[in-house]
Amino acid sequence: MIQILGNCPYCKDGSIEARDIQVQGKALKLYACSNAHWHYETDFAELTPDSTCRFRIFQNQLQRWHKKSISPKEIRTLLREGELKVKLYSTKTKSEYFKWVVTDEEYGISVLWEDNIDT
Ligand SMILES: [Zn+2]
Repeated sequence: MIQILGNCPYCKDGSIEARDIQVQGKALKLYACSNAHWHYETDFAELTPDSTCRFRIFQNQLQRWHKKSISPKEIRTLLREGELKVKLYSTKTKSEYFKWVVTDEEYGISVLWEDNIDT
């Protein structure tokens, strides 16, 4: 069964689904528009010709900033509110910090680095 998390912000009738995929042998969740079908090779993804949308977010997309995974609940909030506060971690200062993320048609999400959040 496919879990629906909200409406796609980039196309009219798309809904965002949580899909289980395998990337380089690892199980991963992909949050993708129902009109966006991706075909995965080892480290390479391609949209299928019948796709009319490209929007998708990887569960581990914020891993670089030490947020291991983005939960389905967080995706729901992001789709509903248009923005989401996430907790990241800096290895330099050894401390947690918060940033807003918003949806991005090309990259799935983008972090608003300029906006500082008081914690
Ligand atoms: Zn879409």
